[in-house]
Amino acid sequence: MKKRIAVLGATGSIGKSSLDIISRESEFFEAVLITAHSKKDELEQLKNKWPSAVCVFSGEEGGEKKLIEAIKNVQPDITINGISGAAGLESSLATIEAGSNLALANKETIVMAGQLVLRLADEKNVKIIPVDSEHSAVFKLIEAHSSLKINEQKINEIILTASGGPFRKLSLKEMENVTAQDALAHPTWKMGPKITIDSASMANKGLEIIEACMLFNMPAEKIKVVVHPQSIVHSMIRLSNGVIYAQLSKPDMRHPIHDALHWPDTAPLNLDTLDFDSLTLEFEKPDTEKFPMLSLASEAVKKGGLYACAYNAANEEAVTAFINKKIRFLDIPKITGIVLEKDWALNYSDKETVLKADSDARLESVKIINKMA
Ligand code: NDP
Ligand code: MG
Repeated sequence: MKKRIAVLGATGSIGKSSLDIISRESEFFEAVLITAHSKKDELEQLKNKWPSAVCVFSGEEGGEKKLIEAIKNVQPDITINGISGAAGLESSLATIEAGSNLALANKETIVMAGQLVLRLADEKNVKIIPVDSEHSAVFKLIEAHSSLKINEQKINEIILTASGGPFRKLSLKEMENVTAQDALAHPTWKMGPKITIDSASMANKGLEIIEACMLFNMPAEKIKVVVHPQSIVHSMIRLSNGVIYAQLSKPDMRHPIHDALHWPDTAPLNLDTLDFDSLTLEFEKPDTEKFPMLSLASEAVKKGGLYACAYNAANEEAVTAFINKKIRFLDIPKITGIVLEKDWALNYSDKETVLKADSDARLESVKIINKMA
């Protein structure tokens, strides 16, 4: 039996890589649901290419409801959530409610509502398989670690690698005047615009610190970030005997997507392999003064409640304002920092409380942005 797969955000970077894996591996997979939000023409083309899949365009009146209904009706075996931003949360919740396993690229889901999402997945007996390359690597390393029977050794630390983005070598002064165009030139990964800007400010790594804490149930102190400009080592775990295990491959999101779709099995994948004859790997400490989004994320996760949700909302609003030339690049962490000074300590167990905090944090951010502009 082929696995029935839903691809949410099929017109995006993750969506396209997912459809590529599904067509390469058509003996294992079939696409049963394909969604898009603004690219109607592209969705029409996908309809022709995938005639048996249900196609949903969510970017019109009532579109969001249609998307949720489709997830419920189609009942996929596994759903890839490649929607960008906070908009992905509702779809993740609907996926879990529908009893479909969730291959999660949309990290915002876990950052905004980790507690709620993980509890619901547990109740519905649904597996969340990370697609974010770092978390996919850690997920695989933890699985390998337990099967190697070295689990008397505890996992002491998760080490997330970060490319450092296009501004790694700029001084703080030089970063004052960078443009969205500059921030969109990522050195190693080709991704959608929001996550690319987040990589430049290292907010992406901030979100990933929070994602790792939630997914792997580890305190923020045990999540380390190391800058690794080549993006070959996708992440590492350090065991209590001091030994570190790493996962390496060329930077290509089809690796984690393929792994997630096959879970709990594994299968071969024929992509470009690493050539050690022409490989240099570098590692350096992240500069937290240049990239305050890193420490703001660790603080948010330590404070708990809805701080992480507020971090995500403030950053999303600030990134939009930066793309629209209302604020400067270094204002992104300033705005996020000011929003996080408010009290977000609220405990939550329902979606409504999360969405209210998300919307409150956005209002706060917009107020600050308007004062700056
Ligand atoms: P893109 O911007 O390339 O694609 C986003 C997709 O989501 C598009 O298909 C878009 O539709 C759809 N979409 C946008 N807004 C909405 C909405 N409100 N409701 C429903 N669908 C919507 O993003 P990426 O593929 O780069 O990223 C997707 C997610 O995966 C993000 O959460 C990102 O952090 C995460 N991720 C991405 C990686 C990457 O390599 N790209 C790596 C790791 C994580 P349309 O195009 O029709 O507007
Ligand atoms: Mg990542």
